[in-house]
Amino acid sequence: MKHKGILVVVSGFSGAGKGTLMKRMIQAYDNYALSVSMTTRLPREGEEDGRDYFFVSKEAFEEKIGQDGLVEYACYCDNYYGTPREYVEEQLAAGKDVILEIEIQGALKVKEKFPTALLLFVMPPSAEELRRRLVGRGTETEEVIRKRLERAVEEARGIESYDYIVINDDLGKCAGELHSIVVAAHHAPFRNEGFIGNIRQELDVLVKGEK
Ligand code: 5GP
Repeated sequence: MKHKGILVVVSGFSGAGKGTLMKRMIQAYDNYALSVSMTTRLPREGEEDGRDYFFVSKEAFEEKIGQDGLVEYACYCDNYYGTPREYVEEQLAAGKDVILEIEIQGALKVKEKFPTALLLFVMPPSAEELRRRLVGRGTETEEVIRKRLERAVEEARGIESYDYIVINDDLGKCAGELHSIVVAAHHAPFRNEGFIGNIRQELDVLVKGEK
């Protein structure tokens, strides 16, 4: 039975390991399409335009907003981040589960526009481990790390808006848990209305035939 894919929103504090986790999901399972966001922040070392992000100027980003070309966008630590619309719509229609790895303001906008989206929040095992990962990444200045930790405090207040949390202690285990949640979500009755309707009709016919 083929139906439309699920819009899977994955958020988590900066440094929670979402990027690596999403790469693992794409490698390990074949039902996912990962949306590539547009941002005005500068590329980090090793990041590639079109693979990690579409890196654009503020003007180009604002033009995209004006064309209604983004599903959602938000300002995070002084930069714009947004989800290009076209890819998401294409992949959902093709039956793929589309992963948006986005921060909380964007996640809440997606939930408003697409109430059936599945919202998942990736947590670090502890706050100390989060700091260790941010510092260990070695790509951010002390000032940026401080801003991102402050932002984590704010984001932590909104976790109850999500459907599920997962703890990223062990990469493989966490990816497995995220996948299990998506698999379970596919079994919700409201995502299977066509199938349920058919069985009801068949049952009606069957019962009438036996009278
Ligand atoms: P980073 O600069 O570390 O790559 O990303 C900073 C934050 O922006 C992360 O929490 C990430 O999930 C979020 N983010 C990335 N792309 C998007 C997007 O398209 N929309 C929104 N709202 N947030 C995004």
